[in-house]
Amino acid sequence: MPNISPKQTKKPEQVKWTSAFDIASVPDDVLLSESARRVRSRNKRAPRPKVLRQCQYCLKLFGTREMRAHIPRCPNRGNPLEPARKDWTVQKVTDPDEQDMRTYRYWQKRTPGERIVATWELSKEAYAFHEANKNVI
Ligand SMILES: [Zn+2]
Repeated sequence: MPNISPKQTKKPEQVKWTSAFDIASVPDDVLLSESARRVRSRNKRAPRPKVLRQCQYCLKLFGTREMRAHIPRCPNRGNPLEPARKDWTVQKVTDPDEQDMRTYRYWQKRTPGERIVATWELSKEAYAFHEANKNVI
């Protein structure tokens, strides 16, 4: 018979639930991580995409929590920048189909004259580009 020390044969101690079990004896971090795991496992959908907004001082993009942490430490805080175009807003689109629909809606709102002018300018630029690069192989 091989020589087995008493430590090796001993099974790990299992904790069984009894009515005398005190939930307060479980550390908070264990309870919170288990609760978070259960909430995550119930979610069928992925979490919503992060909404990025521009810092008013340095114009970099941040999520809400990052923005809250960034604002007091922003290096440009004392020297705010003006956005290049005040009427523009920055939006992040992750779905290419959504981008196509936005583009379609934008051009549907324009008048036929504006659309013709835009088409004309694009054609003009395309021919200019073609002429400039005619001899480039
Ligand atoms: Zn900033």
